Amino acid sequence: MPHVVTQSCCSDASCVVACPVNCIHPAPGEPGFATAEMLYVDAAACVDCGACATACPADAIVPHTTLTEAQLPFLALNTEYFDAFPHADRTPLALVHEQRRLKRSGPFRVAVIGAGPAGLYAADELLKHPEISVDVFDRLPTPYGLVRAGVAPDHQHTKQIERLFGQIESQPGFRYFLGVEVGKDISHAELTARYHAVLYTVGAASDKRLDIPGDDHAGSLSATDFVGWYNGHPDKQDLAVDLSHERVIIVGNGNVALDCARILAENPTRLESTDIATLPLGQLLTSEVREVVVLGRRGPREAAFTVPELVGLAGHRSINVVVDTGDVALEDWASEEGSDDDVKTRLLRDLAGRPVDPAKRTIVLRFYASPVAVHGEGKVTAVEVSRNRLVPDEQGVPRAVPTGETELIEAGMLLRAVGYHGLPVTDLPYDAARGIVPNEQGRVFPGVYVAGWVKRGPTGFIGTNKSDAEETVDRILDDLDAGTIPEPVGTTQGLRGVIRGRQPGMVDLAGWQAIDREERRRGAEVGRPRIKLVDVDEMRRIATEASAPRYASLRRWAVR
Ligand code: NAP
Repeated sequence: MPHVVTQSCCSDASCVVACPVNCIHPAPGEPGFATAEMLYVDAAACVDCGACATACPADAIVPHTTLTEAQLPFLALNTEYFDAFPHADRTPLALVHEQRRLKRSGPFRVAVIGAGPAGLYAADELLKHPEISVDVFDRLPTPYGLVRAGVAPDHQHTKQIERLFGQIESQPGFRYFLGVEVGKDISHAELTARYHAVLYTVGAASDKRLDIPGDDHAGSLSATDFVGWYNGHPDKQDLAVDLSHERVIIVGNGNVALDCARILAENPTRLESTDIATLPLGQLLTSEVREVVVLGRRGPREAAFTVPELVGLAGHRSINVVVDTGDVALEDWASEEGSDDDVKTRLLRDLAGRPVDPAKRTIVLRFYASPVAVHGEGKVTAVEVSRNRLVPDEQGVPRAVPTGETELIEAGMLLRAVGYHGLPVTDLPYDAARGIVPNEQGRVFPGVYVAGWVKRGPTGFIGTNKSDAEETVDRILDDLDAGTIPEPVGTTQGLRGVIRGRQPGMVDLAGWQAIDREERRRGAEVGRPRIKLVDVDEMRRIATEASAPRYASLRRWAVR
């Protein structure tokens, strides 16, 4: 009765340390862990104790007897992984690393800028040291970054990771300064003057451009904005999304492209039970879109979407999935047996053989195709697409090269899902090409650090940020131990008052918890997990009211 890892695996490896018989791989430090699309349970070694399922923050591990029909392919995926990679030299018990201890006595203060997964995993790692306290800042009044504003609303299992974040933020030594913009409400210099270490985990807030004629037409949007729109990001609610046409074209075929395609093609009544933002839900309910074409410039083997996401899409029986490889025959996709590509191409071949139900919306996974121009009189009406062939570059990596043939595909909207790009961080060096702050294992220089996408670029999954944050925290500990960080000239005493003076709507943990309660209360009234608040002023008001009685009683106490 093995347990099985399924689609929402976040790869943070909490399950690996929980497993008493070391049957979940690849484990941190093993070959393949850093690039693994998910982790796998070895059915032959699993003793079915369920410890992994309890430890998993994303509800991704289930006993094989409870797999739904859509999840059944994961049973084979888990087994096949161990056929290809037996991990025969594994120890009978998982290797639990000894907890590092600081050599110098504190107290030490760390400011974390960005309350997304990278920031919260880093805070968790830092708080394993009782000498360290952590203040987490975020521009928005709500934490959790892309878990709240990026993970697609039909992936509610993945959003369960918020429970882990809730435990992290409740630890002693943790404080929130939400709704506070570093660079505006408090400067980098003020932070370095008060904290031993300042750690930026601000992600990659922009997106890559296409730079083709017509890309600026109305209806040509970035997927980053579209994702923020349907997820209730306060800055994206005014996005001009027009769904009064039959076809959307998405450029790029990563997981973001698949998220957008599913949201557009899904029967919107199924989204009513999710935390999708209210205004987008209303628009999706009246959407006239019938087809979403996802353009991959290379072939199926090079597709950027991951196997778990493709399995998830294939399980959506409410959506047709069509695979279009143009002139390239199916058998030309053969990949190295046992590789992720092999599984991916096999799944695509299965999908290609499925009948299309005209009553359902359709996602077309189109390969060897790049957009070359957007047509329309100031508004998207069609996209000119070039057909490509693959030519290996000097390193042998297959690159898309236009064949010279083009075609026009009518569409009312174009989404660029060609990857995120990090913006410069004020007062820090910047690598414009990669959109990151240059760093060595997270150290920018002693006292200033980065983790997450601003450190490594926009790759990986939520749990990837755990090992990434651990590496950066190790560098912070190294520098604290070595005494290379200058002692801050100031302290954080009275900092709340200073910031409240500049930003009266600052939100602390109690304030965020009040926002969370209010969203859940409104959701419960209509049978949804939450109704997201999208108005920053309303969030600040709810948070301030929640904090007010406490301050009032403190004031009374102070007067006495
Ligand atoms: P991504 O995985 O890097 O995919 C970018 C896509 O855009 C690729 O198909 C790429 O093709 C294509 N592309 C780039 N430049 C292009 C151009 N000029 N013309 C045409 N196509 C172009 O990026 P993403 O989808 O934004 O995802 C970012 C990260 O978040 C990934 O690690 C992803 O796995 C993760 N994520 C995970 C989930 C999940 O687990 N459910 C959900 C969302 C995001 P080439 O391959 O040819 O360069």
